[in-house]
Amino acid sequence: MPDIAYDVLTVEAVPDYIRSRPALAARIEQITDVREVGDGNLNLVFVVSGKDGTSAPAGLVLKQSLPYVRADPSWPMAPERNHAEARALRVHGSLAADLVPALYDADPDRFVLAVEDLSDHRVWRAALVDGERHDEAAAALGRYVARTAFGTSAFGLASEPQKRLLAATVNPALCQITELLLFTAPYTPGAPGHDPVARGTDLAAAITAYVTDPDVVTAIGAAKWAFMTRAEALIHGDLHTGSVMVRPATAKAEESTRAFDSEFAFYGPVGFDLGVLWANLLLAAARSAALGDTDNLRWRLAQPAAAWNAFTETFRALWPGRVAPATFTEGVLEGFLDQVRRDALAAAAAEAARRVVGPYPVADLETLPRPERAQAGRAVLAACRYLLLDPGAARAPVETLFDRVGDRL
Ligand code: ADP
Ligand code: MG
Ligand code: MG
Ligand code: MG
Repeated sequence: MPDIAYDVLTVEAVPDYIRSRPALAARIEQITDVREVGDGNLNLVFVVSGKDGTSAPAGLVLKQSLPYVRADPSWPMAPERNHAEARALRVHGSLAADLVPALYDADPDRFVLAVEDLSDHRVWRAALVDGERHDEAAAALGRYVARTAFGTSAFGLASEPQKRLLAATVNPALCQITELLLFTAPYTPGAPGHDPVARGTDLAAAITAYVTDPDVVTAIGAAKWAFMTRAEALIHGDLHTGSVMVRPATAKAEESTRAFDSEFAFYGPVGFDLGVLWANLLLAAARSAALGDTDNLRWRLAQPAAAWNAFTETFRALWPGRVAPATFTEGVLEGFLDQVRRDALAAAAAEAARRVVGPYPVADLETLPRPERAQAGRAVLAACRYLLLDPGAARAPVETLFDRVGDRL
């Protein structure tokens, strides 16, 4: 394992660490349990439970970045991604506090942040794989994208503070990962991880046909250019269903949806967040189709429009508060929303296809039996081709778009 210039947390070291951080010591007086739960690819995550000064239950989560990828220590990765996540949580928390985990502490020297314990939530992807329906989640995420996008864009912020925030949140290392994994490697035969045969011989031909189609490659290249240049707002940057926690309403608590793991946040195209979300709902729908679960299939195909409608409603509701209303006319708003929709289409295709091509497949497809998995993979690629290239898709309302996607599953 590479040498690390700062102390790495362990289950044993967490209690002393918490006592050394005043913001955390004040929150949790008596620690009863520490668990390492990181199931992600990148970082260490500890859930800490105990009691506060009044003996009431208390908890928090610590997330530490290492100078390499947790799942692959031979892949170096700057730990400053932890700073990016802390910045995004601070900004997004000020705009959409109920839709992200609360940030309790950020320790820049050891690349640790402390956030609200969401152990009473589930990761949405896992809930989807189990066939659960969380009816409010998609709309909540649409509101999250709208509030954070408007509030960090030049519509919602005056020019100078907007540019200062943009400059303070550049995130080159993580942007480069997205550029590679979504927009480059899948279309580069011989790139690391580009191995259609490894995805199964019953899927390999469909993958090769898709990733070598010149029209697909050009459309993906255009989406990559948009990702690299359209600095519209401080977006989440990795809003797949594994970056969302959901909790249904109970007698004790309200329904809750939270976007977490925002270490990829940067000033990018707002449509990218919506598109990544749509892609993962499409993957979940492909799972239902493969399993013959028509009720869940219908529900899942309706969720992208639920997210989109909540996004546009919320964005329109914020619009009267824009900076410089004289020049930012209704026509500018409509042009922006249309651009977001088109960016979302292309981002959705890029994200869904890369999960089929590999090398970072998702549980939605991987846990299917072999023949169904290949069938679902081929169906997803057909849907991606439609989203990316069909002239009808570029104009269709989002509801219609995902009806047409459903025809291909
Ligand atoms: P990574 O960047 O390594 O993907 P994540 O932030 O996605 O790390 O966290 C990895 C896992 O840790 C999540 O999938 C979830 O199971 C758990 N986790 C993360 N944050 C919290 C939290 N605030 N409360 C409870 N569990 C969490
Ligand atoms: Mg994660
Ligand atoms: Mg992450
Ligand atoms: Mg069908």
